[in-house]
Amino acid sequence: MNRTKLSILVIVSFLGAVLIALIPSIAPAQTNVHLTMGNPSGAGSSSLNNYLLSKTQYATSHNCSKGIPNWVSWQLNSSWLGSAPRQNNFRADTTLPSGCYQVSTSDYSGSGFDRGHMCPSGDRTDTVTNNSATFLMTNMIPQAPDNNQGIWANLEDYSRDLVTQGKELYIISGGYGSGGTGSNGSASTIASGKVTVPNRTWKVIVVLDSPGNASSVTTSTRVIAVNIPNTQGVRDSDWRSYRVSVDSIENATGYDFLSNVSASTQSVIEARVDNQ
Ligand code: MN
Ligand code: MN
Repeated sequence: MNRTKLSILVIVSFLGAVLIALIPSIAPAQTNVHLTMGNPSGAGSSSLNNYLLSKTQYATSHNCSKGIPNWVSWQLNSSWLGSAPRQNNFRADTTLPSGCYQVSTSDYSGSGFDRGHMCPSGDRTDTVTNNSATFLMTNMIPQAPDNNQGIWANLEDYSRDLVTQGKELYIISGGYGSGGTGSNGSASTIASGKVTVPNRTWKVIVVLDSPGNASSVTTSTRVIAVNIPNTQGVRDSDWRSYRVSVDSIENATGYDFLSNVSASTQSVIEARVDNQ
């Protein structure tokens, strides 16, 4: 090998090494499929009250001061549904950063409020691992039993019916405000103040005609949004009676839903109240 060839080899090797070192910064950040429609509060790792937990099974913004999620977001299509049994292994989420209180299952004991799943157990039945992930306490809010076990569960069932019809859904849900009424009466917090009881429970569901077309949201895409009081007495009410616009939930929460959809399309589908 002569000097010229050696020089070229050294230069090419050096450039190759530089390129390899740069690849991680050039490649776009891996996007969680559950954030396909957007990240409603711009959650990340800089605030303990808007802390992004990006999981295989769902994504959530956790609020460490409130001990509940600000929102949980998940994709639902037939690939998530199978025959894995309900695991019932409610437990603290040890992936929370230091300085963030890890809510335990006993924090809800005797409170009169259910450990109310946001991403339902029934939406993750493809594998035991995925079902188990829905029982992390970062996926829970204190939910009035009548809300959780009646009207809310009926909407969850309806969502899975849509999937059975071939639809793909993008769902975001949470609670806002403080003060709910459970089976022991009203409370603003439980667990000695560590867990806020939301006043309202809300959900936004984007309904796509078929899986794999998340970029196909148009002004005719169906969006179901509900806003339900976190109280007893709503068990047998129809969730359809609590439908609202996405805009009204954006106004109440300060979040921007569906931010990955064009502004002009958002303005149409977020103003419309579902009536199907
Ligand atoms: Mn539930
Ligand atoms: Mn929006």
